[in-house]
Amino acid sequence: MGSKAGKALEGQKLKDYVISFCKEHGADLVGFAPVERWDEAGEVPPDFRPRALWPSARTVIVIGIEMPLPIVETTPSVLHKELYRTANRKLDILAYDLTRHLNRMGFASFFFGRDVYANLKALREKTMAAFSHVMAAKYAGLGTIGVSHCLLTPEFGPRVRFVSVFTSVVIPPDPLVEKDLCIKCELCALCCPKKALTMKKDRVIGDYDKMACLEMAEELTRRGCYPCGICTKVCPIGMDRLLYRRKGLRKKYLRETEALAANSEDPDYKSWSHIRKYGIPETDKDSDHKKKGS
Ligand code: SF4
Ligand code: SF4
Repeated sequence: MGSKAGKALEGQKLKDYVISFCKEHGADLVGFAPVERWDEAGEVPPDFRPRALWPSARTVIVIGIEMPLPIVETTPSVLHKELYRTANRKLDILAYDLTRHLNRMGFASFFFGRDVYANLKALREKTMAAFSHVMAAKYAGLGTIGVSHCLLTPEFGPRVRFVSVFTSVVIPPDPLVEKDLCIKCELCALCCPKKALTMKKDRVIGDYDKMACLEMAEELTRRGCYPCGICTKVCPIGMDRLLYRRKGLRKKYLRETEALAANSEDPDYKSWSHIRKYGIPETDKDSDHKKKGS
């Protein structure tokens, strides 16, 4: 197994080749992390580090794809759910293709799939995943973690999803992003419907109540329009806001719940509420409202 042509590529040339492969197959972001970064940082428990999961790993290649802002803004909606599922599927296929491509080139590789859990019950029993793509993306120099516990990237803020490919070959790493991208604007915490995020004065990453967030995911799963993602919707970070001309929306995001409770046809939110109205059985919407009100 392995090709001479593949083995002839090394260092920056191999890195450029992998980046081209990922971009041609639909990646928006690609970053490279040496496995030693997990040990040096000491933030991730030893059993959750790449070499514990696959001892041959030397480099983790992290691939990101954008979640387009206007679709994320409709959350919770079936449209957003479909985007989420498509992004996950696309990432898994991309990681699978890159893994097999690297194997054919003679570089043994392995990938850790996008969402590796059976159901939300499993998350209630064990809230951690076997591997964190968010930490991998941070160590691959793609961004920094914000109050919301999401990875914020310069390109898309938190509106990006990641997958990770481990490979046995050493590839030049990307530098870590040194300056925090989170500006501690508090919008994620203020808009969270479960108050699952709490700002901390002494650090950027806020306290995160995983069970409260999971409760929201369970409610939305029953309605068929998970995930929540309101904290990713409102975050002001990301060049995608310039592309879509969606800057300065703090007030709009903050008053959304109240405005729609007063008038479900509020013209400021009409496009989102229209999309949310369709694709979900009325009975499910009703039963959920009753549960919330009880
Ligand atoms: S996903 Fe929703 S419930 Fe969870 S922290 Fe973000 S805003 Fe809160
Ligand atoms: S919404 Fe504001 S506080 Fe929350 S992660 Fe984004 S920049 Fe940080």
